[in-house]
Amino acid sequence: MIIDGNAIAKKIKDKARNCCSDCYRKPNVVAIMLGENPSSEAYLRMIERTCNSVEFGYRLDRFDTTLSEQDLLEHIRALNEDEEIDGILVQMPLPKQISEEKVIMAIAPEKDLDGFHPINAGRLFKGEKATRPCTPLAVITMFKELDIDLEGKYIVVIGRSNIVGKPLAVMLMENNATVTICHSRTVDLEEHTRKADIIIVAVGIANFLKKEMVSEKAIVIDVGMNEVDGKLVGDVDFDSMKDYVQMITPVPGGVGPVTNAVLLLNVIEHFKGVK
Ligand code: NAP
Repeated sequence: MIIDGNAIAKKIKDKARNCCSDCYRKPNVVAIMLGENPSSEAYLRMIERTCNSVEFGYRLDRFDTTLSEQDLLEHIRALNEDEEIDGILVQMPLPKQISEEKVIMAIAPEKDLDGFHPINAGRLFKGEKATRPCTPLAVITMFKELDIDLEGKYIVVIGRSNIVGKPLAVMLMENNATVTICHSRTVDLEEHTRKADIIIVAVGIANFLKKEMVSEKAIVIDVGMNEVDGKLVGDVDFDSMKDYVQMITPVPGGVGPVTNAVLLLNVIEHFKGVK
């Protein structure tokens, strides 16, 4: 079965639209971008379309790349204090004169839509209510929407980044899965992947996971987004695996659209928090 990320994203958007239709104001998102960057612009256009589709407010605050760190931090502080703003997104990478760490720290945890603030990361680690990073949240939401019970499942996550692999492992454990994280120093990766009920790949190498590395009973979730000859491809050798494994996500049309949609869930959490 090929998992339809667009259909899951639509369900999430429908829920988001209904959730705020009778509220006293619409939830509002502000994105900040310095200069021009085609992949950031494409991402923000997608976020704008997603917000517009559920009638959430969206605004892009665009600055020149020469903006000083102090001016950016002051702008973020003003947004933190603005009661009409529920979520802030700052597009990385930032110019050299600006510390990304300081910027992440400056966003109020209750407006941090990416879930990158150390307070949110710490709360997640402790099992407390926290804004969760969108990509891991998307993967967990996909399992929920597909009625896949994670309890007792042996799940292998390939990739240990702060934005995908690590938080995802914590969220899978919250759902009572048995989790192994693999990375570039893992010895005999296939030893783990062949035994896995579920494999989640977030490596950033096109067609990295091959058919011979997985069991035919496996569910394969491809987080990867790689550009090959102008086309978007995942980290999984999809063509060889789609008729072999139990379930698989395509790229595009898998985790990507769900990641954009679950951002709305984070906006709602923040919005309901201030209401
Ligand atoms: P990242 O920070 O570069 O991390 C990549 C991870 O893969 C690292 O932990 C690395 O191990 C591991 N790795 C690299 N080569 C490996 C190998 N040969 N064997 C096993 N593990 C290996 O990347 P990321 O930000 O997590 O993103 C991963 C992919 O997901 C990218 O394609 C990115 O574009 C995509 N992505 C998609 C979404 C979405 O919404 N769909 C969101 C975010 C990212 P070490 O730690 O040992 O270096």
